[in-house]
Amino acid sequence: MKSLIAITLLTLTGCTTIGFDTKVRESYSWEPKTDMTICILVGPNVDNAEQISAHSQAEFSQYNINLNFEYQDWTPPRWGVLKAVMQVPLKAPCDRLFAYLHRPVLQSLMSLVASIEGEVDNASGSRGYGYVSGLSVATLAVGTGKKVVEHEFYHLMGCGHTMSKNNCYGQIQEMKHFSTDEFVPSWSFMLDKWLYERDGKLR
Ligand SMILES: [Zn+2]
Repeated sequence: MKSLIAITLLTLTGCTTIGFDTKVRESYSWEPKTDMTICILVGPNVDNAEQISAHSQAEFSQYNINLNFEYQDWTPPRWGVLKAVMQVPLKAPCDRLFAYLHRPVLQSLMSLVASIEGEVDNASGSRGYGYVSGLSVATLAVGTGKKVVEHEFYHLMGCGHTMSKNNCYGQIQEMKHFSTDEFVPSWSFMLDKWLYERDGKLR
């Protein structure tokens, strides 16, 4: 899913946000704790990976999700980043794969009108990327890439674009409920269902 946070902030349409928090969250019990490992592919010139991760760790601790991170260096292709991330095998203990990328200056200038800040693959809902440093409208507007990554991580938890997080809370609840020591299920936006194995049952 393309996260056009920049455009959302400018037009306030709300249709491309994960949604605002509501009191419905308090009506759920978030027990027990869910451990989830996100394996991070760290692109060249990214020097804030741990800060970016810490922000999302705090965000998702609200759902009693304990995010663990494993890092490895990765060089993205010039084009087709999402496709490239989708080709990286998802191996235990990784529940998700996500690339932290730096946007070079030239690309920043080209992206000032409508930039894709990050994407998650619709088929497996288990992989994605986000720009965590470099200039863009979104990073200027929200200050850092932390919000970009938080947005994409909500997709990795099965949440789509809505006005409020009410449906999202239900998705996270289900994801926690179905998670095992082996795997935290991922939501296929394409098939509208949970996948209980790494890259499993896409048809
Ligand atoms: Zn999005």
